[in-house]
Amino acid sequence: MKKIAVLGAGLTGASAAASLVRQGHQVTVFDKGRAAGGRMSSKRTEQGYLDMGAQYFTARSDVFTQQVKQWLEAGLVELWRCKTALLSDDEGVISLTASEDKQQRFIGIPSMQSPVSALLQGIPLLTSCRIHKLDYQQQCWTLYAEDGQHYAGFDAVLVTVPPVQAQQLMTQSGLANIFDSVTDLLEPCWAVAVQAQSIPYGDAIFCQHPQLRFISHQQHKTGRSSCYILHFNAQFSALHLDEPAEFWFERSSQILRQELQVKGDIKTLVAHRWLYASQKDQMAPPGILAMPAQQLWAAGDWSYGGRVENAYLAGLQLAQAVHEYSDHTEAMR
Ligand SMILES: Cc1cc2nc3c(=O)[nH]c(=O)nc-3n(C[C@H](O)[C@H](O)[C@H](O)COP(=O)(O)OP(=O)(O)OC[C@H]3O[C@@H](n4cnc5c(N)ncnc54)[C@H](O)[C@@H]3O)c2cc1C
Repeated sequence: MKKIAVLGAGLTGASAAASLVRQGHQVTVFDKGRAAGGRMSSKRTEQGYLDMGAQYFTARSDVFTQQVKQWLEAGLVELWRCKTALLSDDEGVISLTASEDKQQRFIGIPSMQSPVSALLQGIPLLTSCRIHKLDYQQQCWTLYAEDGQHYAGFDAVLVTVPPVQAQQLMTQSGLANIFDSVTDLLEPCWAVAVQAQSIPYGDAIFCQHPQLRFISHQQHKTGRSSCYILHFNAQFSALHLDEPAEFWFERSSQILRQELQVKGDIKTLVAHRWLYASQKDQMAPPGILAMPAQQLWAAGDWSYGGRVENAYLAGLQLAQAVHEYSDHTEAMR
């Protein structure tokens, strides 16, 4: 049995931790956020949850399909019965058309982080705990948190935080920078929640638009506040990265009124900036990064192409890497 620290309680960290515990290891998970979930977090309001990050997930691999089946049976996820549509901009002419497809899309209930929390059930999780330095001495890792606490005696560390944050951690720790080539992998996204009259088509509106990439209506999602979530595309989000919430409220209201012909009151609720949201299509995913001799392993959704499913698979791959390396070193003795 090894004592293992997992940095990050998103789906990658949760999937790795659950798998390692099943293998008999002693695992502690650390996250800087107030709860588990990472980019699958939903914001709690009196009217219900707002999914500010991932809106849904798909299951393509056999392994993840099996896991989703278990979550469905346990009532942790449901099929999102959404109508899909396409918002396109043809040289300034905006059109919204229904575009039904056969893709099954799943959501966590009552919030996106439900399956993440379920994986972490019974596993020690320290939240509001930002790890800012790692130290490796005599085959043991010590983790230093920003609040002055430290956690010692780990045989292995799994890093599942986004690459830029991982690189900062390695620099602060004086460790080799294994993340140098992957810091450009994740792009930003501003997400805005608004209450507005219904848009004619669609709960899941894919956007080929100069500013937006996705609009989601929460009305058919159990446990959610019935509102719209607008996701601005990476290019527009990056261009206006430091604009305040008011800028994003104004932009959202204008698009809804002028381009989608929404009438009546528009109530802006929340604007959230994701610095590292989703994968750049153009870049090849790198797989797991590692310092095997020190037992430091790193992966995330970005290791296998982004998205929720790849985060889950990355977690399993991390657990497998620890396992195989332990077997290998045992055999060498
Ligand atoms: C706006 C948006 C929309 C999306 N839409 C979809 C979608 O519709 N479908 C889909 O499949 N995917 C979608 N995604 C992507 C999906 O959310 C991610 O692929 C997945 O959640 C990534 O999980 P992860 O565990 O790899 O990373 P994360 O969820 O980012 O987890 C990393 C964790 O590390 C923690 N952390 C960071 N630094 C530290 C530190 N120093 N110390 C301690 N903890 C730290 C963070 O708090 C975080 O909880 C979307 C993402 C965003 C942001």
